[in-house]
Amino acid sequence: MFHVIRLLIIGILIYLIYKALKWIFWSSGKNQESVEQRHMPVISGEDLVEDPYCHVYVPLSQAYRGYLDGETLYFCSKHCYEQYRLHNTAGKAREAV
Ligand SMILES: [Zn+2]
Repeated sequence: MFHVIRLLIIGILIYLIYKALKWIFWSSGKNQESVEQRHMPVISGEDLVEDPYCHVYVPLSQAYRGYLDGETLYFCSKHCYEQYRLHNTAGKAREAV
């Protein structure tokens, strides 16, 4: 009978140690994840704007601002703005003719 109780206590101890280790590894892994998230370019709370040319979402502060027909448009790069403007004006010119 005493052997059974001792085995039970040892079993509980092993289980608790296992759980504690698992919790330590889990929480450290979770911390690493949040550090990685902080390095991501997308910051929560900041507005995302869609590049109308390549359809990539960029944070407003990092977006390239382009003006077209008095309208402000946001692009991921100057290249996209120039390409978009080129295609847009070409399309409008075709419509006019
Ligand atoms: Zn783009």
